Amino acid sequence: MSSPSSDMKAFRELVHQCKSLVVLTGAGVSAESGVPTFRGAGGYWRRWNATDLATPGAFHENPSLVWEFYHYRREVMASKHPNPAHIAIAECEKRFKRSGRKVTVITQNIDGLHKRAGSNRILELHGNLFKTRCLKCGDVAVNVDSPICEALQGRGAPDPGTESALIPEEQLPRCKVGGCGGLVRPHVVWFGECLESSILEEVDQELKNCDLCMLVGTSSVVYPAAGFAPALAARGVPVAEFNMETTWATNQLGFHFHGPAGENVPEALKP
Ligand SMILES: [Zn+2]
Repeated sequence: MSSPSSDMKAFRELVHQCKSLVVLTGAGVSAESGVPTFRGAGGYWRRWNATDLATPGAFHENPSLVWEFYHYRREVMASKHPNPAHIAIAECEKRFKRSGRKVTVITQNIDGLHKRAGSNRILELHGNLFKTRCLKCGDVAVNVDSPICEALQGRGAPDPGTESALIPEEQLPRCKVGGCGGLVRPHVVWFGECLESSILEEVDQELKNCDLCMLVGTSSVVYPAAGFAPALAARGVPVAEFNMETTWATNQLGFHFHGPAGENVPEALKP
């Protein structure tokens, strides 16, 4: 296996020629916008790790606590903004569209920053902080209310000493579909849950059709990129990693650009 190239000029040549670009983004690109991603060191909310709270079992046991955690994550987004990587990807999509080409974002991030940057073709593997799903009727709805319900007003503080709100279930966010009123949960994929099959089918389709792939803020050795990479490699599709870690390239055509996505991605995608 040859080592990955870091030849930006050569990569940009591929961008200019490509017809269908897939950009797979992960926690790294959100972290550069200052979004708490609850991964690795410092990944705590109060005394819990996200892996303790982002589970169906935790929600079943204490929906008030889990909603406090997600309320915090939603509210924090008001002060966070798309960074130059998000913006460069969105601008590239618009530019490509004018010449009948396409850019598709496949993201693990749930913060909605790609949409806010102006991207339109987005497949959200892990759902979205600003969507809810009803446990009773299954309705999925966009919800940007702040706070999402009256009882969560002023709640969700991340400090370890904060007391839990213990909000009664009937005061937690409820379904707005006429006559339902069921308890809703964040429409995000929790630990121990499967990714939505309809999204996976769309992802599969995009991977089949693309002729260039960028992995931004995620590495080709970590799921889910690790699962996509073999399909691309089998067709000889060039894959470029943009992240802070050095990893091996996924195939002989691989590129690796080390450093902040906010610097390298705009450089790679400039007109
Ligand atoms: Zn409902």
